[in-house]
Amino acid sequence: MDKKIVDRREVSATEERCIVNNIYAVAPGVWRMKDVFVNVFIIESQAQPGWVLVDTGLKSSVAKIKNMIAEVMEPGAKPQAIILTHGHFDHRGALQQLADEWRVPVYCHHMEMPYLTGKASYPPPDPTVGGGVMASMAFVYPSGPIDIQEHLRELPEDGSVPSLPDWHWLHTPGHTPGHISLFRESDGVLVAGDAVVTTKQESIFSVMTQKKVVSGPPKYFTPDWGAAARSVKELAALEPNVIVSGHGHAMYGQDARQALHKLARRFWQLGMPDHGRYVSEPALFNDEGPTYVPPKSPSYTLVKIVAATALVVIGYSLYRKKQKTLGKALMASSVGLLGLKLPTL
Ligand SMILES: [Zn+2]
Ligand SMILES: [Zn+2]
Repeated sequence: MDKKIVDRREVSATEERCIVNNIYAVAPGVWRMKDVFVNVFIIESQAQPGWVLVDTGLKSSVAKIKNMIAEVMEPGAKPQAIILTHGHFDHRGALQQLADEWRVPVYCHHMEMPYLTGKASYPPPDPTVGGGVMASMAFVYPSGPIDIQEHLRELPEDGSVPSLPDWHWLHTPGHTPGHISLFRESDGVLVAGDAVVTTKQESIFSVMTQKKVVSGPPKYFTPDWGAAARSVKELAALEPNVIVSGHGHAMYGQDARQALHKLARRFWQLGMPDHGRYVSEPALFNDEGPTYVPPKSPSYTLVKIVAATALVVIGYSLYRKKQKTLGKALMASSVGLLGLKLPTL
């Protein structure tokens, strides 16, 4: 740990404050909203008037994002821009609708553009990496592209962040090829996207309880572990005072820094799975999308069957307990997962 960096930095926040249901004040000018299991951020510049939305949650997040804006800014306000840490379905869900309505620029890294302009899909998730139900369910997470070409812009190469002169962005690939993190040097606030997360995202238990722990990127959706390890090292070298990410609560101070350094030092042990589709060789990418995707691991079919069985069991018990719609949906996704035709329920 570099004590000199830590000592000269102003400490602007030591814990997050819930201002209203699921909306938290993280640090001066930084707010987080949790929708189901993913975070959306509002960041307001402390150097000039203006604010941006960072990531856009799920497809169903539109109303919640507008409510967050009403709480934190003012009802009906719109940001100067939308910044994407990456283009996974749970970070760009409401993007199309919001960008069409607001007509504001959407910024991302150029390596992320193929997945946001309808040109390429992400490599398939790897549900065999284990760690819990969220990983096993990865079959049903969409990895296909959307097309928001008319709104999309490339982030400036010099690392500056449009509308936020007090922040800069860093390329933190591994989880996706064009993944970025955002950092405010003056008080060490890190918005890490999914390069590191502050919960154990593979486990539905951790996702529900939001237990705080600095973890590597979600395992089922990370196709390049070498790059992911280098990105975590780079983030640790920033010596952040606040770590907030795509999933989980904000973490602060010495404890957060130490956890991040430990993860960076022992990434091969703590941050990545010991087996899985992308462990021995990564997927490869260029500006147009993936150029090589490693073959499926042998346990793929087995995991699929186990996951489908779990979905049927959970779905049926919900159905019996009068939660018919959710129960049916889970049972239906299990047959879809096995590639079978849907029976009439
Ligand atoms: Zn992600
Ligand atoms: Zn995510």
